[in-house]
Amino acid sequence: MLVINSGSSSLKYALVQPDSGQSLADGLVEQIGERDSPVPDHHAALRVAFEQLASDGIDLKSCGLAAVGHRVVHGGQTFYRPTVIDDAMITELQELSQLAPLHNPPAVQGIQVARKMLPDTPHVAVFDTAFFHNLPPAAATYAIEREVAEKWRVRRYGFHGTSHQYVSEQAAAFLGRSVGELNQIVLHLGNGASASAIAKGRPVETSMGLTPLEGLVMGTRSGDIDPSIIGYLCREANMSVGDVESMLNARSGVLGLAGERDFRRLREMIESGDSAAQLAYDVFVHRLRKYIGAYLAVLGRTDAVSFTAGIGENAAAVRRDAVSGLAALGIELDEQRNLEPARDARRISTDTSPIAVLVIPTNEELAIARDCLSVLA
Ligand code: ADP
Repeated sequence: MLVINSGSSSLKYALVQPDSGQSLADGLVEQIGERDSPVPDHHAALRVAFEQLASDGIDLKSCGLAAVGHRVVHGGQTFYRPTVIDDAMITELQELSQLAPLHNPPAVQGIQVARKMLPDTPHVAVFDTAFFHNLPPAAATYAIEREVAEKWRVRRYGFHGTSHQYVSEQAAAFLGRSVGELNQIVLHLGNGASASAIAKGRPVETSMGLTPLEGLVMGTRSGDIDPSIIGYLCREANMSVGDVESMLNARSGVLGLAGERDFRRLREMIESGDSAAQLAYDVFVHRLRKYIGAYLAVLGRTDAVSFTAGIGENAAAVRRDAVSGLAALGIELDEQRNLEPARDARRISTDTSPIAVLVIPTNEELAIARDCLSVLA
């Protein structure tokens, strides 16, 4: 399976053997469409990816490629299963771009180009919203005028679903239990960040909403804000709606507060006494703790809290600061275990902690490849 993840300015790909989980090759094409970039568009990006695969000794036409899996951010209410792509579906995906103008168009472009380049291979779309399709109405509904919400499909959809599902299954396997008997919190902390509460395998809450802007503080996104801020800035600061949206998505979060979004650099800045970096870190961790507390209450009884993605898997300080001092709520971190560097799934709570705290590496490419396999079977 070739898995393609087309973002606005990057394209990630991986050639995966879904049964064994082995990744045969993977890579990243960056700076698509940026000024002075040798990669003007997604067509060129995919050509670069194919050339990189060829230089790794892989010929896609003869390597036994079964399908191409495409990650699509927003499936709306229409798509919540992995779906084999045809022309009619492309039209529906383009319509869905209204709901996700920043996220869906690059994926649709990537799909169109890939179908042209590999016309004889099935292409499958896998949606980031799918896992959260059945969020309970109380969690999925915004308390706004009902007719408006229904007409414009305004509800909470949730994103990073592939990762939340995969990590919750891996966490259960690590604990030697089935997902159906566990209540879990998953914290996906990468450039985008989201939390989910999963009761016996079923998601009951997640932090992202209509779009991936809601919830936790992220690399460049604000997460939760008072919605009045948007109207206030449009009226008083003469900003357009588009200006405010691009500020909230691209120039806010940790980047907006500290001028830097990478947590490795942020740590160095904090160590050199940069107070803006310290505040950005504190705001990030405070929001995260607030969500953990909220989700413990939503679940009532929690068995496991799992950290995943770039920050969750690597930033021991973030994990410590997010769950330290929560013994009264059933979380007892083992500071030493938390500091030990490792790549595999591991427990970072004490053996007697009522709630297991885990680090579970995510693998969205493998999860997408397996989703493709399930629909082709
Ligand atoms: P995405 O897939 O959303 O682009 P990732 O899951 O790759 O993001 O996470 C990227 C983030 O992970 C980086 O911005 C960086 O802040 C953080 N990160 C990666 N490695 C480390 C590390 N060793 N220590 C701290 N943070 C790290």
